[in-house]
Amino acid sequence: MVKIIRTPSRYVQGKDALLEIKEHTSNLGDSLFIITSKTALEVSIEKIEKSYENSGVKIIFEIFNGQSSDQEINRIREIVKSSQSKVIVGVGGGKVLDTARAVAHFEKKPIVIVPTIAATDAPCTAISVIYSDSGVFDRFQVYPSHPDVVIVDSKILTNAPVRFFVAGMGDALATYFEGRACLRSKALNIVGGEITNVGFAIAETCYKLLLEYGYQAKLAVEKGAITEAVENTLEANIYLSGVGAENAGVAGAHSIYNGFTKVEECEEFMHGELVAFGTIVQLVLENSPLYEIEEVIGFSVSVGLPVTLSQINVSNNEQVLEAAKAACKEGELIHNLLGDVTVEDIYDAILAADALEEHYLALENK
Ligand SMILES: [Zn+2]
Repeated sequence: MVKIIRTPSRYVQGKDALLEIKEHTSNLGDSLFIITSKTALEVSIEKIEKSYENSGVKIIFEIFNGQSSDQEINRIREIVKSSQSKVIVGVGGGKVLDTARAVAHFEKKPIVIVPTIAATDAPCTAISVIYSDSGVFDRFQVYPSHPDVVIVDSKILTNAPVRFFVAGMGDALATYFEGRACLRSKALNIVGGEITNVGFAIAETCYKLLLEYGYQAKLAVEKGAITEAVENTLEANIYLSGVGAENAGVAGAHSIYNGFTKVEECEEFMHGELVAFGTIVQLVLENSPLYEIEEVIGFSVSVGLPVTLSQINVSNNEQVLEAAKAACKEGELIHNLLGDVTVEDIYDAILAADALEEHYLALENK
């Protein structure tokens, strides 16, 4: 088996980075088809138009209908075909970007990704989540290539509600521990190979940046300030978390997330918030030492990620069992952990993680 690492071709990040979109896409083609949402268009249109001022580049904007579904992807593909645009650009949150990625893939066009929130690590990946028109999860669509360009405008992302920024840290929190678990069990990464040293180094750096800068970054973002700590955290949330997860592998934390999405009471929680909780459960499952678990809980509490079952609206053991069963399903990435994992193991680990977290919170509040 060979080792593989795959990444976006170009990653651009900084204050007002979107003003440079022309410079970073000029080699791809001279007409753009921008798929976006109303809110995302509002925060980005001025910069995009300024960048292409007097350039002669033809730009078409298309507002997507809110769902990354087959029907919506096909609808936009037809418009792209008749427009003869050369480059697809996705500007917005996860579903906009997933739709844009799918359109670009099926129409064989280059893809430029411009996230407007920092809530997950999806922008740098080669995967779309496809839903039905009514928003029910359908499948993951995996592409043979990564985005040609990802542009992260720190000003736009830090103007979004801070909860997105914190949830992004929750998603990023899992990257190192899931990668380490895959390395231990020799599980393959998401791009279908063994883990490269550089792939794992990305995952390690992701965790290091969160610990060093995450808390101070959150405080700065709350005040509307963009500091080097904020830039480092954005890089962890978006680049290191996405590229790290794909190339170092995914394991227990994301299966625990999948498990809790089956519990109705957890619906209001964002992906990264539940992944952060799942990270602590994975550490308990792996029999990690207390100092490591405490470090992760301490970080989560400091930035305001939920750490206890009650904080994610789980109030009884039936809900825990439901989540454990779903997390343990065949094909779930939790089976990338070393050794066999049973429903009972997961159930016990969730309860034990909760007990540790309650204990930690009580100490904090003393
Ligand atoms: Zn994730």
